[in-house]
Amino acid sequence: MATKIVVDAGHGGSNPGAVYQGRRESDDALRLAMAVGKILEANGYDVTYTRTSDVTQSVGQKAAIANEEGADLFVSIHRNAAEYPGQYSGIQTLLYDESGFKKEMADNINKNLAALGFRNAGVSIRPNLVVLNSTQMPALLVEAGFIDSQTDNQLFDSKFQAIAQAIADGIMETLDGPQMTSSNVDETLYEEEEERHRRPPMRPMPPMPPIPPMPPAPPVDQEEELYRVQAGAFRERQNADNLLQLLENDGFPAFIVYQDGLYKVQVGAFARLSNAIAMEREVRQKGYNTYITT
Ligand SMILES: [Zn+2]
Repeated sequence: MATKIVVDAGHGGSNPGAVYQGRRESDDALRLAMAVGKILEANGYDVTYTRTSDVTQSVGQKAAIANEEGADLFVSIHRNAAEYPGQYSGIQTLLYDESGFKKEMADNINKNLAALGFRNAGVSIRPNLVVLNSTQMPALLVEAGFIDSQTDNQLFDSKFQAIAQAIADGIMETLDGPQMTSSNVDETLYEEEEERHRRPPMRPMPPMPPIPPMPPAPPVDQEEELYRVQAGAFRERQNADNLLQLLENDGFPAFIVYQDGLYKVQVGAFARLSNAIAMEREVRQKGYNTYITT
């Protein structure tokens, strides 16, 4: 059973969140949440989005979606704003508390984002936020830079796909890291719920299956549906990262899938073969060796 992750695009509809010179947090959050979710899906995670379009949603509704899904993890994507435009810049991850694996995951996400050039404003404990205190699973809120900072917006726009990859990698590194065993995942989730709500979880926690050393492959039917354009497969992560960087510099929405002991660099996952072929042609024209895989 794949790990279930609910990805939330902050705000939405009549609540745009922070707005700066016509730029709306709700739009940036939606785009980024979808991109992060796509990478997690491509790596075999079971992803649900709180919203996939510009609809109005209360924070209570967002938390309820995650609770109804019985998710293992909730990740909310936002952009920050200061009192005076240009006052601050940087990324930050907000948590209800530091228990379980939340702090480690937040640190991993922040570190990956900082590597792209953002100022790392660290982790902030915010027990009053509804999406953090009303979700029954570990929850993180990522502030992907300040929407009223020129520096951050420039990074957000020029490194968009790398930012999505950085957040997804932070999540996956933590969930799949060698320090996590199936038994302590189980305990962490359970303890966290007890501590937060001072009552037993609403749903009895099913025993977690042992976590395999790599992300589980997507179910066969999904796998068969998707055509992926692959530009390379490597045993060393660094080599995959290098190719990813080249593809991103050329403007391709590339990502890395870890499968069968290989870091596979892919550009898009398409339900239609014709779309995969069109993308492959573009990638080839830039001089990459590619092939289409399912
Ligand atoms: Zn927000």
